[in-house]
Amino acid sequence: MSYITGVSRGQVVLFPESIDDYISEDNPLRFIDAFVEHMDLHKLGFIRAEPAKTGRPGYEPKDLLKLYIYGYKNRITSSRRLEQETHRNMEVVWLLRRLRPDFKTLSDFRKDNVKAFKSVFRQFTLLCNVLDLFSGELVAIDGTKIKGVNNISRNYSKPLLQEKLKEINRRIDAYLKDIEETDEREPDRPRLTAVALKEKINGLEAKKGEYKNMLEAMEQSGETQISLTDSDSRSFPKKFGVPVGYNAQAAVDEKHHLIVEQEVTNAVTDIDQLSAMAIKSKEALGVERLKVVADAGYCNAKEIKACEEAGIETYTPKINTSNSTKKGLYGKEQFTYDATNNCYHCPAGKKLSYRFEGYEKRRDKQRSVLYYVGESCQRCEQKPLCTESKDPRRITRCPEEDAIDRMQARMKQHPEIIKKRKQIVEHPFGTIKFWNHQNAFLMKGLEKVRAEFSLSTLAYNMKRVINIVGVEKMIEALV
Ligand code: SF4
Repeated sequence: MSYITGVSRGQVVLFPESIDDYISEDNPLRFIDAFVEHMDLHKLGFIRAEPAKTGRPGYEPKDLLKLYIYGYKNRITSSRRLEQETHRNMEVVWLLRRLRPDFKTLSDFRKDNVKAFKSVFRQFTLLCNVLDLFSGELVAIDGTKIKGVNNISRNYSKPLLQEKLKEINRRIDAYLKDIEETDEREPDRPRLTAVALKEKINGLEAKKGEYKNMLEAMEQSGETQISLTDSDSRSFPKKFGVPVGYNAQAAVDEKHHLIVEQEVTNAVTDIDQLSAMAIKSKEALGVERLKVVADAGYCNAKEIKACEEAGIETYTPKINTSNSTKKGLYGKEQFTYDATNNCYHCPAGKKLSYRFEGYEKRRDKQRSVLYYVGESCQRCEQKPLCTESKDPRRITRCPEEDAIDRMQARMKQHPEIIKKRKQIVEHPFGTIKFWNHQNAFLMKGLEKVRAEFSLSTLAYNMKRVINIVGVEKMIEALV
């Protein structure tokens, strides 16, 4: 039995007469081309979107943008690899009409237009609205950590620097002791000469100065960590599996799992991200009211209240952080808030009345809290089950906590919404990170990684819409 064989390399073949014949009518390239041609890049903030009147002609930004969209859609994100594709890839030859910009031109284009890529993502969202691909009722918000360029060994936190300074001082003391003891050294124990020891001490002193400067810079900026290679990136707890990087946020619509809004921050947690993402999603969808579901990491009374004021219903589970519950005592969840009388009722049916407003420090921030204190605790038989203190039981409440109470009432009415969260939001992140190989940023700095994420999310949305409605309808919708 023989094998299927290819055509001889020396054989004369008749190629199609134009490059266009190589690209089928339903090839996504045709949409990328039409989509970029349809946009006014000058209005979207791209530089050099209008040709210069004098000098050597440059590449048209539209051509470079088409190449980047094609690249991100096909897992080619580096400018060097994109340059290679312009030489060997028939689709790219068609898309760029045989133009071959070098990697420097491509990389400069991405760097110089970092803010404009977000507008391109928005233009595609508008198109999805035209095609009626959003439900406009429920979006799920989630964040994922994406690795940055900065290595963990080039990231320092205050405790780490303090630890390093202690270690340096200990080593300097040991070297000084060694210099003093040179005469009494044991003959069989190899030691450095006094000159070599002094050199080592000087090296350590220089390092010490560097660490002290970093600590001072942190004091002045109020930051809790410093990254030397990419100053905007942050280190994350080990559980995230990304030592140093960025926090990428996405709001995903329920209907087709399309991304409505996206952002990249360097916030270590998601706790302050809910309202900004929800409000921008509502604007992008152009709706009067919106339901937003997110995981417990977003549960923040201030954020939930801000959403309520913007006409957004939130659904986020509340984590029980009560120390009393951990100790097996009555937890806060067993106390009922009475809004009419502004007091709490305890499991023994007694009242905890409002006493004063104070401040507590949480996640490096001062926040205002209201204190409620038990009226009848000293005579209560259940006190050993309630508090370990000899003082009456205290309950704290933040001023916006009524928003959480209302949200919990909503969640009781609609338990199905929380169940939908995972299936809506985890699909895009899974696809972007693992299918599209976007699990690390290539550029340094918040603005630049935002541009990268805008292109990644645009590529995700584009692929999905092509699968849902097809290239032809997408091009029709542009007109
Ligand atoms: S100790 Fe105070 S708050 Fe606790 S159950 Fe008794 S009365 Fe209620």
